Amino acid sequence: MNTTTEKCIALISVHGDPAIEIGKEEAGGQNVYVRHVGEALAQLGWQVDMFTRKVSKGQNPVVQHSQNCRTIRLIAGPVEFVPRDELFDYLPEFLDNFLQFQQANDITYPLIHTNYWHSSWIGMELKKIQGSKQVHTYHSLGVVKYNTIESIPLIASQRLAVEKEVLETAERIVATSPQEKQHMRSLVSSQGTIDIIPCGTDIQRFGAIERQAARSKLKIAPETKLVFYIGRFDPRKGIETLVRAINESQLRTSKNLQLIIGGGSTPGNSDGIERDRIESIVNKLGMNDCTIFTGRLSQEILPIYYAAADVCVVPSHYEPFGLVAIEAMASNTPVVASDVGGLRFTVVPEETGLLAPPQDVTAFTSAIDRILLNPEWRDKLGKAGRKRVETNFSWDGVANQLSELYTQFLEQPVAKKAALLTQ
Ligand code: UDP
Repeated sequence: MNTTTEKCIALISVHGDPAIEIGKEEAGGQNVYVRHVGEALAQLGWQVDMFTRKVSKGQNPVVQHSQNCRTIRLIAGPVEFVPRDELFDYLPEFLDNFLQFQQANDITYPLIHTNYWHSSWIGMELKKIQGSKQVHTYHSLGVVKYNTIESIPLIASQRLAVEKEVLETAERIVATSPQEKQHMRSLVSSQGTIDIIPCGTDIQRFGAIERQAARSKLKIAPETKLVFYIGRFDPRKGIETLVRAINESQLRTSKNLQLIIGGGSTPGNSDGIERDRIESIVNKLGMNDCTIFTGRLSQEILPIYYAAADVCVVPSHYEPFGLVAIEAMASNTPVVASDVGGLRFTVVPEETGLLAPPQDVTAFTSAIDRILLNPEWRDKLGKAGRKRVETNFSWDGVANQLSELYTQFLEQPVAKKAALLTQ
């Protein structure tokens, strides 16, 4: 059967496996995005195949998420974890294996939604080879990232060139916030068509448990002031700013202040090195008594932590979208976040939380303290956050918008070489 003409889409996410555990090195928002978008599209009647790179021998080549939705793991380079900045040379092999998969399964994908710049290269090649239409989500822009780090990787010029080409040639770019669109326009290219469709969150999962019930599950006393961080251990996530801000808090000398830092790491890998660095700062500041490192928290358990917290802090140096902020808001918890990128879009200052300049310890301390010291206001901010997420950021809403976008492209005439592989 040739599925070319059906509502059929390939989501490509070379380094962000949608079927993998979230919360470890290089597994974060992109994995969550691709998985939820894929599953929600399948519910809308799309046949969704999500392609990623196989990183260990024990992984199944195909994971079935639902009847119409599966993850397909292709070989590209060694079957082991490879940091993203070293993946580019393996892309031709990924492309070959993608084409072979199509041939073996008698499928030619008319529409490809690519995620992150590596995948955009694959999408652009597929457009040349078989005329597939391309929708692209960046998840991170090289030009913005390189402004926030000290050592620029060797791959930088390649990445910047690919990111410019895809903006100018894809049928549509999906920016996840107005801020991201503005960066594309001002820093990448004035050409190309950009739609804003935000990331989403599971509003049934996040918000399902009440604050008191969550606190009793975690054995957290009612008088405890709980500050929560969740995310990858990466210097750009700004965990150091949070730790230093808590150390300066007016409540620091009270026994009731508690900081929970969640997120997975592997000793010796870059996230393990960052966790060691953060732990040593906690030690030096004498904050062991009030700080807990939980390790990775699964998406099943996370709603309990969000609901139990008085405030969730997202202190990133830069964040293209920042799923954590909307997960916390969906859980009725106010957010204190850096005044950058997508966080400016999701967090409404004084309404659903507060924004502070990135890396500004004093500003973070005063924002966190304002919320901790006013429980009534905290509840008000939390409720408004929940409402904002229900209205703007549910996965179903996001998938509906994407589905409408894809449908426009499928209704256009099939491109010139679309049937090449199946003849
Ligand atoms: N996450 C998780 N468990 C962890 C750490 C993170 O499930 O231990 C999830 C978190 O809930 C969110 C995602 O990983 O859905 C992180 O996405 P975000 O956009 O905030 O950051 P990114 O990792 O993309 O930089």
